[in-house]
Amino acid sequence: MKITGLPALVGSYDNYIWVLYQNQQAWVVDPGESEQVLAFLQQQGLQLQGVLVTHFHHDHVNGIGALKAAYPHATVYGPELTPNPLIEIRVKEGDRVALTDDFALNVLFTPGHTEDHVSYYNDTVLFCGDTLFSGGCGRKFTGTFAQFADSILKLRALPDQLGFYSAHEYTLSNLKFAYLVEPGNAALRQRILESRILYPEPLEGPQSTLGLEKATNPFLRFDTPQIKAQLLQRGAQDTTESLFKTLREWKDDLDQSGALDHVNLQEEVQ
Ligand SMILES: [Zn+2]
Repeated sequence: MKITGLPALVGSYDNYIWVLYQNQQAWVVDPGESEQVLAFLQQQGLQLQGVLVTHFHHDHVNGIGALKAAYPHATVYGPELTPNPLIEIRVKEGDRVALTDDFALNVLFTPGHTEDHVSYYNDTVLFCGDTLFSGGCGRKFTGTFAQFADSILKLRALPDQLGFYSAHEYTLSNLKFAYLVEPGNAALRQRILESRILYPEPLEGPQSTLGLEKATNPFLRFDTPQIKAQLLQRGAQDTTESLFKTLREWKDDLDQSGALDHVNLQEEVQ
C-alpha cells in the first residue's frame, strides 16, 4: 500500500489528506478539501473506494461531498458519534475496516480533542487525526482532559514501528515547545537537527514513527520524571488527567502569547 499526504487548507490549518492506494484503488483519510484529491486520483489513474473520517471538524470532512459526487460508489466510514449525514458506515473501537484482502485498519476510540474522535491503525501504520501530531498533540475542544489523557495512553501502547500519520503539519512549532520542556532529551535534539519539513509539498510516507514520537513528543512523555517534576511545580496533581491537562495548558498559553514564535530551533540546539 502506498501512502501520500496531500497538503490541504495550506496557510490556515495546514492539513494533510492521506491517500492510500494500490492496484488503481484508493482510500482517503480526513478530506477537508477535494480539489487536490480529485486531481491526484486522476493523475495516478485511481478509483476512490472509500473515505475514512477521524472526527467531525470541517477541516477533516468538507471534501467528502465532492468526492462522493465524483465517485458515488466510494464508502464513507466515520465514528459512531460523529453527527455527519455523509457517513455511511459508523465505526467504533474494536471494529475493523478492510481496504483490501490483505490491508485492514483497526478502529481505536481516541476522544479528547473532540468527543467523537477515532484513530485507525494496523501493524504498520497509525492515522491519529488530531489526537497526536508530529511532536505535539491536538487542542482540547469538545472532549475532556480525562478522555484525552486516556487516549494518549492507548496510542502509546501501540508498537514503536508504526508509521505515524497525523492530520496536520505543525512539527517545527511543536518541537519548539518540546525543547522548552525537555532540553536535555538527546533524542529530541537529534530530531530537531534532522527535521526537514518540506510542507506544502506532498509527503510520501509517514511524518514520523510512533517510536520517535514516544522518544521526543512531550505529550507522550508527560509522566516521565523530568517532565512530571515540572508539571507538579506548575500546580498539577499526580494524576494522569491533571498532568496531561497542565502540559496541554502550558502549551496553549505559549501558543496564545506567541512566546515561541521567534525561537530559532536549529540555533538553540547547537
Ligand atoms: Zn480537529
